[in-house]
Amino acid sequence: MRTLAAAVSMMVLVLCSTAPGCATAARHREAGPSLAGATSDAGFRAADADGTTVFSPLDLPAASAVRLGSGAPGPAYWQQRADYRIDATLHEGERAVSATGTITYHNNSPDPLAYVWLHLEQNLFRADSLGSLSKEPGSRFGYRKGFEGGYEIGPVAVDGAPTELHVYDTLGRIDLPAPLEPGGSITIDLSWRFNVPPFGVDRLAVDEVEQGAIFQIAQWFPAVAVYDDVHGWNTLPYLGQGEFYTNFGDYEVSITAPRSHVVVATGVLTNAAEVLTSSARERLDAAMRSDETVTIRSAAEVGDPSSWPAGDGPLTWRFSARNVRTFAWASSAAFVWDAAGVDVRGSAQARNGRVLVQSAYPKEALPLWGEATQMARHSIDFNSRQWHPYPYPTAVNVNGRVGGMEYPMIVFCAERRNERGLYGVTDHEFGHTWFPMLVNTDERRYAWMDEGFNSFMNVYTIRDRYGENARDRRSDVDAFTAQMTRGQQQPFASTYADHVWRGRLGFLMYGKPAAALVLLREEVLGEERFDAAFRAYIDRWAFKHPQPADFFRTMEDVAGADLAWFWRGWFLSTATLDQAVTGVDHNEDGLWVRVHLASRRDMVMPVRMRVRYDDGSEEERRLPAEVWATTSLWTDGWNPAGRRVVEVVLDPDSVLPDVDRSNNRWSEGRRRN
Ligand SMILES: [Zn+2]
Repeated sequence: MRTLAAAVSMMVLVLCSTAPGCATAARHREAGPSLAGATSDAGFRAADADGTTVFSPLDLPAASAVRLGSGAPGPAYWQQRADYRIDATLHEGERAVSATGTITYHNNSPDPLAYVWLHLEQNLFRADSLGSLSKEPGSRFGYRKGFEGGYEIGPVAVDGAPTELHVYDTLGRIDLPAPLEPGGSITIDLSWRFNVPPFGVDRLAVDEVEQGAIFQIAQWFPAVAVYDDVHGWNTLPYLGQGEFYTNFGDYEVSITAPRSHVVVATGVLTNAAEVLTSSARERLDAAMRSDETVTIRSAAEVGDPSSWPAGDGPLTWRFSARNVRTFAWASSAAFVWDAAGVDVRGSAQARNGRVLVQSAYPKEALPLWGEATQMARHSIDFNSRQWHPYPYPTAVNVNGRVGGMEYPMIVFCAERRNERGLYGVTDHEFGHTWFPMLVNTDERRYAWMDEGFNSFMNVYTIRDRYGENARDRRSDVDAFTAQMTRGQQQPFASTYADHVWRGRLGFLMYGKPAAALVLLREEVLGEERFDAAFRAYIDRWAFKHPQPADFFRTMEDVAGADLAWFWRGWFLSTATLDQAVTGVDHNEDGLWVRVHLASRRDMVMPVRMRVRYDDGSEEERRLPAEVWATTSLWTDGWNPAGRRVVEVVLDPDSVLPDVDRSNNRWSEGRRRN
């Protein structure tokens, strides 16, 4: 689509080159009343009590050498790093995991650190946790009665010296024997064990299927919290709905599981010769070269001892992952496993420009899951070309009890029957590779920066796969317009995920920001300008930690636009939109027509109107949102070339969340306001 400015100037051009009365109209404009503008004082847009209007500059944090005024990371930008070595064992019979680990924590900040905070997310599953006591029992994020969850943590050592871990619900603090100086690092050694929740607030779970249990394991190890320049230690607790915020780092993880299991995980399998048969290794190599799906372990081979290496006792699978913000895995004797490769040019870590895309699922998920690898390939390929190359060497989709959840290189999807449903979840969860796995934001504080941006991307993958008219349920304009007129509204950019009013998470953090970005792209900036800015945001902040202001500033800096009115209307308030056409005047000699418009609520948007004339001709006219900068009443005027306007329709394609469409149409003889 053309940009709005181009559309407006083209319209003027078309009008003046085709309209016979053009020269006369120009003279009339000089001599007579103003044709367009704020023709009445009644619409004056007064400031609120705090001195602001929707167009006032945003009150953003001051720019610095860490975060520039342009929205880019500055020369003094820094972020912390945490590398992990973990040796884990899956105890299938006990439905438990035990592990030992070493965290190497690097202080890249300019600040000495007297203590280190750890996330202990399994403690959510204690009966007396903050999350258990504050979420409604039986809900998706509520505590399940009777389950004994939480970490048992063994002795903790810092640089080899025993130390105490102070545990406060899902957080733990280690007071360091001496401050960790800038540029320094420490190692933290610890061991832990936990029972795997049968349904761990839709993040991890055990699914009992015919040929075994499927373990989906995530948020399963003590992880260092993020220390940054904006909030210091980011210590929002784990309550269930808010996902996670962690540091980038390298992971070397070994997982010991029963010999009959297939284990899939974040990262590259580094000891295939020890855990796979030679035929499985050959198939995996063939899959990497193939665009078509190649079976690694078929449904017929599940449970067949010839499908795993000969011998007794468990096997230890080793995975290596670079520059990821966490590590997750899944293990099951019931897994059917397939894979294919996909080309990704310019990927940070793909091997020879190729990513290995895999799916692991039980036979209960067939036949639908036979398509899952190709669905993932479509999503990864489209988003890599449209926005930024998929950065990692592997991607695996796991079917089990977890409805839909994302981790680096591995996602969990429960859908087993519906094709659109499975594509939707697969595309959404792999879309999280860009936000927040690559562009690392705080999911508990700013869920819109990952769920919203990802849902925006999903609109275009879905259109690419199912056609231009395919609609994403969450960002569908009618659905979210209906939501915006209900009570209990919250501004999404300043509402924590765990503080979203019940049942509104999908609307507030997914649908509304996605719809906002679609409109910013298609109705305000145009594709070229928007895409350059959105890509710049990803490029600038890939493998880094942006804040909301970095996003707002980058979009304005690269697009070359003042969007304060847009961020305020959509992101920072609970504003609603009502555009109205209130009347049409013609002058007697047919030299001009004036259309009277109103913006009746506190959100402003550009105006798009379809005008029909008495000779049956039609034209589309556009006005920028800036017409509303000083007034809520605007008059558009032009030379109709002797024709009479018989109908005006605002937002004719219903793309805006206009809460009252009854005043969007004016027709001769049937006036409405
Ligand atoms: Zn999501």
